[in-house]
Amino acid sequence: LRDELIESEKMKVVSVISASVAHEIRNPLTTVRGFIQLLTQTQVDQEKKRQYGKLCLDELDRAQQIINDYLSLAKPHPELNEKLNIGDEIYYVSKVLTSYANLSGVEIVVEFDVDLYVTGDRSKFRQSIINIAKNGIEAMEAKGGVLTITAKRNKRFVVLRISDIGNGMTDAQINRLGSPYFSNKEKGTGLGTMVSFNIIKGMMGRINVQSEVGRGTVFQIVFPAVS
Ligand code: ADP
Ligand code: MG
Repeated sequence: LRDELIESEKMKVVSVISASVAHEIRNPLTTVRGFIQLLTQTQVDQEKKRQYGKLCLDELDRAQQIINDYLSLAKPHPELNEKLNIGDEIYYVSKVLTSYANLSGVEIVVEFDVDLYVTGDRSKFRQSIINIAKNGIEAMEAKGGVLTITAKRNKRFVVLRISDIGNGMTDAQINRLGSPYFSNKEKGTGLGTMVSFNIIKGMMGRINVQSEVGRGTVFQIVFPAVS
């Protein structure tokens, strides 16, 4: 029964998420469609062409960003219950994000205890960590810094920490994390943490956020360890 409840809870989350993805992708598509129509139907001067073209590109980038934030959730495979080696997974995530980090002058440091395992869907788990780590990198964009990802054993739990020394958050901002469309970024989707938190909760993980404005942020996630 417990498993069934978890399963139906997950289905609920998936359907809420797909509905909001559809909604969010539709907006930029509608905008782009409108501008292309303008470009093809009327005499348009160079300046307007340039302007419309730029708006289309910006909107397409936005659609792309939304898809990136949701990437693994959109993959058409059923939810898997795999045994994941946390060290391998955070190492993988650090590699995926290296070039993105370098663009912002951010270095990624990874540290982990060996033979630490959790249960979950590999690509979803990666997605959840990528979204949180990306926010850490973006928080250090202005000044550069170090993003630290660590995984340690604590009795029957795995403690994962993602820390940055970026711009930090107020308590009010921390409280809004995980809710859809909360973003303080010019090109933000406000979907990354919602997707991450849903995945982590689906894995029985608990999330704790410590942050100080101007100093940085620590996301601590505690999962039940699997032997
Ligand atoms: P997005 O990144 O598209 O804005 P997210 O859901 O990923 O959407 O994040 C929501 C908001 O939470 C961000 O816009 C940012 O203001 C805040 N935030 C999340 N992580 C951090 C962090 N590590 N440091 C500072 N602010 C953060
Ligand atoms: Mg984000």
